[in-house]
Parts: sequence; structure tokens; C-alpha cells
Amino acid sequence: MPTTTPETMHRIPAAVSDARRLYDSGATRPLAARVARLKALRAMLTENQSAFEAALWSDLHKGAAEAQLTEIDVVLAEINHTLRHLRRWARPRRGPVPAALWPARARLVSEPLGVVLVIAPWNYPVQLLLDPLAGVLATGNTAVLKPSELAPATSELIARLVPAYFPDGAVRTVQGGVPETTELLAQRFDHIVFTGSGAVGRVVMRAAAEHLTPVTLELGGKSPVWFDDDARLHRAARRLAWAKFTNAGQTCVAPDYVMTTPDRVPALVDALRTAIADLWGSDPRAGQDYGRIVNERQFDRLVPLLEGTDVVVGGDHDRAERYFAPTVVTVPGVGAGAGVALGAGAGAGAGGRAVVGPDAVHPVLREEIFGPILPIVPVESAEQAVEVVNGWDKPLALYVFTSSARTRRLFERSTSSGAVVHDAGLVHVAATGLPFGGVGASGIGSYHGSHSWRAFSHLKPVLHKPLAPDTLRLAQPPFTGPGLSLVRRLMRHG
Ligand code: NAD
Repeated sequence: MPTTTPETMHRIPAAVSDARRLYDSGATRPLAARVARLKALRAMLTENQSAFEAALWSDLHKGAAEAQLTEIDVVLAEINHTLRHLRRWARPRRGPVPAALWPARARLVSEPLGVVLVIAPWNYPVQLLLDPLAGVLATGNTAVLKPSELAPATSELIARLVPAYFPDGAVRTVQGGVPETTELLAQRFDHIVFTGSGAVGRVVMRAAAEHLTPVTLELGGKSPVWFDDDARLHRAARRLAWAKFTNAGQTCVAPDYVMTTPDRVPALVDALRTAIADLWGSDPRAGQDYGRIVNERQFDRLVPLLEGTDVVVGGDHDRAERYFAPTVVTVPGVGAGAGVALGAGAGAGAGGRAVVGPDAVHPVLREEIFGPILPIVPVESAEQAVEVVNGWDKPLALYVFTSSARTRRLFERSTSSGAVVHDAGLVHVAATGLPFGGVGASGIGSYHGSHSWRAFSHLKPVLHKPLAPDTLRLAQPPFTGPGLSLVRRLMRHG
């Protein structure tokens, strides 16, 4: 990645104004141009697939199969889905006109927003940069991409490929870290899509407020799991382990902690141990399919989280290799049957401390883990698990493993989260037609498929009220005769 120099900083305002000039020229608006750009994005991925795989291996030790499934194919699915539906989404639709305004005609016309900034994190550095880009291009915008500096090989590759596939400059890349992003955020954009932490999300939203720029914020948080499926314990545990330890737990929608009843803990631990060995072998370090922690800073953040826990699976780690084994822990003194019983109400434990959240007794339950450590929290019941979930910020995802339809409904109706998935984890991200996003502290807005279309375009009502017959006269002074009461009656009907 190029180092920050006054020269690189100087290029940032120019990149944004060039993107705006191109947008203003109208070149990105015709449907054919949008289709061509989506196809260029698809070609960029398919023609350079092995280069993307190599970059992801270098940045995150992502194996080729995982790179294809969780990064490249997700974006290709988004592009293909968009190409299939684009013409229908783009078609102006008739809008309703209330009787009080008759005769008149209304249409709903989608128009692009302008120049869109996409800021991505390091954990899925291809998917989380290019998936929003597909929506941004489909809606006729130009884009400025800011890949994560913490996935340098991917950032470098994208910066090199983009000018070749978008020679007119409809997509531009600005590489760099905090100084470059700060300079970018000082520019005026028409929309910002940010994926990353809540802390930086606040920085982005403050900067966007200066220009009244709307934002889509894809943030994180502690995504909980309720696990009571003893009917198919091993199958469910395998899915849970896969969702948690894929990309070494560095996934925004990774299960963060799992709640189950005290009597199920031993069986769940055994099933997770078996599942981890089935998925990544008895020594995951030796295989090609288990990822690494992205850098030493993240590694050094994770290691102390093990202190004061009981490690029941894994726990070994090696800083030189940034290897951290798939690890399951319990936290002494936390949860039902673990010495300190959970109290009733608002997810608070004995002594009034929340089980999960900033004042939880152990750091592993205080903030998003974002690594391969899975704490098991014993609770009395599904109802108590609901209280724990509701005791803190609304999570990005909530996972329920149960064979009971009643329990599934309990979580759907009594909690709020970006998404709920039953009997699996992560897979909703690949469901192209479903909105992907958080709620409350886990994010603002959503995208994917038609939801990207809504997020990155403006639905403009166009109303035509012909001059003749001049029925508007009835609503204009002087208010005489029966006309006014007729108009008022019609108005109230809506
Ligand atoms: P981050 O917030 O540290 O960084 C994200 C981006 O912001 C990077 O491009 C970085 O260069 C930039 N940035 C960092 N500090 C900045 C600052 N002070 N000012 C301006 N820009 C700055 O996030 P991360 O560590 O890359 O990713 C981890 C977080 O992202 C986790 O919280 C995770 O849950 C979340 N995440 C969310 C999703 C989602 O789709 N909702 C997906 C992946 C990750």
C-alpha cells in the first residue's frame, strides 16, 4: 500500500471531483451503461479469480474454497441477481393519486444519487467492498472505493484492477488508513456505505452530517445463539462451529456467545469438539482451510480474553503465525448453575450486572469478540436467554437452534436484531434477495438485491396535474359555494 504523502492526500479531492464530473456528464445513467459496468465488475472478478484467492491467502490465510464461497461467489451472485432484475427495478411505476387531486397522473421514477463512497473493513475485504459496489453501479452512480489498509494485498489488487476495468473512471480507488479516510470524509458525497466498527461508524456519521450525506452503516456487535436442539445435537453443533470459526471467527455475523441450559453444556462442549475436528482436523494449524488472525494487534487483543475463563476446547495460539485455535470457553461464576444464578429481568445477573454488555463480569462477554473464541453461557430457559439478548444493544444476527416452533417464535417476537436465522449461522448473508443490515447499534439501513436498489437510488414521484379541467380552483380562495366541502370530503378519504 502506498504510504501517506502530501501528494497522495492531494489526489483525494481530485478523485472525488473527477467522479462527480463523470456523474454530471450523464454517462453512468443509461441502463445499457449500468449493465456494461456490472459486467465489467463481473469480468474483473472472474478473469482474476486466482489473483483474488492469492491476495486473500496473503491477508487472511483464507483457503481457495473459502475465498470462493464467502467472497467471490457472494459478489458474483449479487451481480447476476441484479442483472436479472435490473430492467424491472428501473421501470417507472404508476403512483397512486387520491380522488381529491383528480384528474392527475403520477409516476415513481428511480434516479441515481450521484457519487457514492464505499468504505470496507478487512475481514471480508472483497465481498464487503464489491457487493455494495454492484448496487451502486446498478443504480447509475459513480463510486469511490476505500478498501481496508489492514488487508493490504487485496487493497493493492483492487486498486490495480479498477482502472483497467473502469477506464472512464466510474469507479475509483483510494487506498490508505485513517488520514486518507479522514480526507475522503471531508469531501461531499451523495451517499456513504460504511462497513466496520460502531466506533468508526460514529466518526463517519459525524463527517457525513457536515454535508447532510445519507449513510448506510453496516456495523457489528455480539450476535447471540440459543442452542437447545438435543434432537440433532451433532448436526446443529457442526453448523454452529462452522459459523463461528470460519475466517477464524473474524466475521461480523459470527455467533459471538452461545446460551444453553446448564444440563446441556457438557454435551454441547463434546459436540463442538467433535465438529471442530471434523471440519478442520485434529490440528487446524496444519490444514489449508483454517484462517489466521489478521495482524498482531488483533492477536494481542484476543489472547487476554482467555484469562479467567475455563478453556474447554482448543485455546492454543502462536503469535509468530497469528494462529489461534478454534476455542470454546465457559466463564466461571457466570450463568445459571455456574455458581452465580442469573437474576430475573433485563438480562441482569446476580448483583444487577448484565450478563452480556459493557458491565459484564468478564471481558469476553463485554464486547464483540471478533475472533475464534466461543463462550458458553448457561441460562435457565429460552425465556431467560431472551432477557439476556434484550439486556443490551440489538445484535446484527441472532441464531436459534431448536426443534421447537414455539421457541423459534419466542425469539422472533420478543427480540430485535438485524436478522434471525434458525438452525444455521451466516447463511442469510448469501440470500441475495433479503435485506442485509443491522438495527439500532448494529447498523443503519440495509442492502443486497432490490434493497441495494432502494438504498442507492432516490424514488422520485413525478406528478402531472393538467391545467384543464381546473379542479384545483375548488381548493383556492375565494372559498364560496359547495366546492370546498366536496374537496374537504375527498381530502379526508385520502
Ligand atoms: P474499522 O471500523 O476499524 O475499519 C473500517 C474502515 O474504516 C477501514 O477502511 C478503515 O481504514 C477505516 N477507519 C478506521 N479508523 C478510522 C477513523 N478513525 N476514521 C476514518 N476511517 C477509519 O473496522 P474493522 O476493524 O476493519 O472491522 C471490524 C468491525 O467491522 C467489527 O466490528 C465487525 O463486526 C464490523 N463488520 C461489520 C460488517 C457488516 O456487514 N455489518 C461486516 C464486517 C465487519
